[in-house]
Amino acid sequence: MPLEEILEDIPALFRRAAINAALGSARSFSSHLQKWRKRKEKAEAKGKGFHERPPVPPRAWNKSATLYAGMWKERAGSSMVMKVWTGTCWSWVKVRLIGRDLPTDADIGSPQLIRRGNQWWVHTPVEKQFKSPGKIEKQVTTNAQTRMCAVDLNLNEHLAVCTIQTVEGTILATTFIGGGRRISGFRKKQLGRIARNRSKTGIIAEGEQDNADLWHKIRQVDEQVAHLVSARIVQFAQAHQASILVFEHLGNLKPEKGKYSRRGNSKRAYWMKGRIFKYAKYKAWHIGVITSRVNPANTSRECHRCHRLVIRYDAGERAEGYTPGTSLVRCPHCWMQGHADRNASLVIGQRLIARYQTPLKEKPHAPVRHAGREEKSSGVALSQEAKSKSRPSTDLAGYGESNEHGTAQDGLLRMDERLSDIPCQLRLPFE
Ligand SMILES: [Zn+2]
Repeated sequence: MPLEEILEDIPALFRRAAINAALGSARSFSSHLQKWRKRKEKAEAKGKGFHERPPVPPRAWNKSATLYAGMWKERAGSSMVMKVWTGTCWSWVKVRLIGRDLPTDADIGSPQLIRRGNQWWVHTPVEKQFKSPGKIEKQVTTNAQTRMCAVDLNLNEHLAVCTIQTVEGTILATTFIGGGRRISGFRKKQLGRIARNRSKTGIIAEGEQDNADLWHKIRQVDEQVAHLVSARIVQFAQAHQASILVFEHLGNLKPEKGKYSRRGNSKRAYWMKGRIFKYAKYKAWHIGVITSRVNPANTSRECHRCHRLVIRYDAGERAEGYTPGTSLVRCPHCWMQGHADRNASLVIGQRLIARYQTPLKEKPHAPVRHAGREEKSSGVALSQEAKSKSRPSTDLAGYGESNEHGTAQDGLLRMDERLSDIPCQLRLPFE
């Protein structure tokens, strides 16, 4: 249908945007069709049956309106003037913008108007060119002073523990990013409310989200904490000129027993770890830092100095055995002492370096083997659990909800500005 039939006097540039959108859609359809034909030919050539349906051209679609230059003007920090259809005529309207200022050192694309419920959002694409930071292998093997930031993500109070170390092994800095107990307490409270509401109503309507407000609250807070933590990890790495960020692969989710709120809580805490990694990865890339992951097997059980089995215990307890989740660590072999999560993050960093060293060192020492040998010679008693512990599975687990990181451009902007003055505790907006 020609645009004139819909409305008279459509600005030429809006017309152009509409044509471009239609063209893009047609191209996408045509390439899908081509791929489908190829698959069909291939299947027929092999004599197999082919039952896939051909793609259908879109009958109707909604597109966000792109504002080409000429459709907008006078863009200042917090306002811009754009030409829009008011319902009766095309006119210039001044709107107020919230969000972060556009970077001055990047190419700014044409803004888009995006509808979200009853609101309209302005998204501005930004393109920034920077030099590729170079492969990790090259960085690690050619410069012993290369700094890396290793991160241990946890489910306890310290959501992330980061250490900076050089390739040759000098430890330069450590930071603890706390707030785990608060977010977990908050989440558990909301999940408990949901469980109580559900038990009151008895049935849950099918195809309808129950307790939508509470779920929304939980999602918002999880999302925000993941962004805050990842941003702080990257800031810490940047402040110490680290050029590599190292995490460990997520292990499998270990299902917990207990009430609904407890099970749901640990599941979400696990998902959040995945999200923190994902966000940290792209945030790091924006400042030219590469992210990598290493094998998570026994990172908390290994001594960062001598790579043998450690003793793990809580403050005020006797330093013996291995109690998972406790905060202190001591090595019975080299007398290293310290915080358990910090030790784990150092081990994570060392694993990345070990990957690029001589093949002999390729595999980190298996702590389990050492345990038996050491016990005989030094007589240090290690708990039965530590000895019999087999390596945990290193499978990569899916992270669950990956659909709600949203469009980062405008929505999350205020967060970054506040980051500089965040005290040790993370703030939760909904408490
Ligand atoms: Zn040691």
